[in-house]
Amino acid sequence: MSDIKRIVVVGASAAGLTTAETLRREGFDGLVTLIGDELHLPYDRPPLSKQVLLGTWEPERTSFRDDATYQRLEIGLRLGVAATGVDLVSRTVALSTGDRVPYDRLVIATGVRPGRLRAGHELAGVHVLRTLDDTLALRAGLARASSVVVVGAGFLGSEAAAAARTLGKDVALVDMAPVPMSRQFGDELGGWIGDLHRDRGVDVRTGVGVSRLLGDTGVTGVELADGSVLAADLVLVAIGSVPATDWLTTSGIPLDDGVLCDATCQTAPGVYAAGDVARWYNRRFGALMRIEHRMNATEQAMAAARNLLGEPQPFTPVPYFWTDQFDARIQAYGVFPPEAKMTVALGEPANRKLVAHYHHEGALVGVLGWNMPRELRAARALLLED
Ligand SMILES: Cc1cc2nc3c(=O)[nH]c(=O)nc-3n(C[C@H](O)[C@H](O)[C@H](O)COP(=O)(O)OP(=O)(O)OC[C@H]3O[C@@H](n4cnc5c(N)ncnc54)[C@H](O)[C@@H]3O)c2cc1C
Repeated sequence: MSDIKRIVVVGASAAGLTTAETLRREGFDGLVTLIGDELHLPYDRPPLSKQVLLGTWEPERTSFRDDATYQRLEIGLRLGVAATGVDLVSRTVALSTGDRVPYDRLVIATGVRPGRLRAGHELAGVHVLRTLDDTLALRAGLARASSVVVVGAGFLGSEAAAAARTLGKDVALVDMAPVPMSRQFGDELGGWIGDLHRDRGVDVRTGVGVSRLLGDTGVTGVELADGSVLAADLVLVAIGSVPATDWLTTSGIPLDDGVLCDATCQTAPGVYAAGDVARWYNRRFGALMRIEHRMNATEQAMAAARNLLGEPQPFTPVPYFWTDQFDARIQAYGVFPPEAKMTVALGEPANRKLVAHYHHEGALVGVLGWNMPRELRAARALLLED
């Protein structure tokens, strides 16, 4: 550790903050600088599409730590400043302020940015949802809106549709895929999620894409590929995300749908990546993975911080994630390849309580619980045995 005096972390959110805190917990007493392009103190994102959108939490509650904690841990926070490049030879990070920050070790934790439609984002009333500022704008828009179209029925779109419907709005949920969340959990389970939304009054329009957004200055509707038109005074575009690596394009750091890392989360000498932006080789599954889920951001940041200080160990997690939609809490461990076969191992889809097993190439690769947290934990043990 003695040659390491300055560690720079770019991206001041779940993965970045966990990296900085783990460095201190492991006894690193050199300089730790945490650089983030948002102005807010680091905050948690999962409540944004749930409690904050619903108005049951005020935004401040999402803050991870108060000012005093950063001071106590001697974490040098530089907020509202973007990293614009990295020089691997001089070991410096260039900032939007024109400064260059030297590092002995660098951790990249810049997450992802929301995907956008080819056209239409300039219309008033068209939103994306990634940051706290996005959420506050969406929350204010929802307060005025009566008909809402959510484009994209993945995690985020489905959660936001549930929140908007709970707030009493007319909501349509549109996706090219045959059912909501089919990319995540397959068509059968996604069908049950679609049924949940339909039962709560969401107009689920799946198997059809969006042709264009309508309106002159403000959005008035969404035209679908089958020619139908959905009225909308608010549109949320939730069509996936793109790793925030634009600032690294000329750095020489390997990029391929994220920052490409080895099994220990290292991407270049002295440079590591963690969280949504990192694609690394997970030896447990023998595959390259990039995981956009909260638990991974914490676990991978802890692994990266320990690896850069000490003897590097492969990072081999069983991925975990959850989503809350209406009264459904769906939790999942493992991986869910599109070809996996899903069987209901416990419970009943009709009662909206179940544990499902996903098998692929003869092995149990994923387990999913729908409002059955205790039973799901037992199923997770099977996954580790297999
Ligand atoms: C609305 C919402 C709801 C979610 N709900 C769930 C859920 O229910 N369950 C679940 O498992 N996961 C959920 N997630 C995913 C989870 O929040 C992410 O996996 C997690 O935030 C990833 O953390 P991260 O630190 O890797 O990236 P991020 O949280 O994206 O943070 C990256 C930070 O880096 C900053 N940055 C980017 N580029 C630069 C640059 N060049 N210079 C400086 N700073 C930069 C970004 O602005 C951002 O602040 C949700 C995400 C969202 C947006």
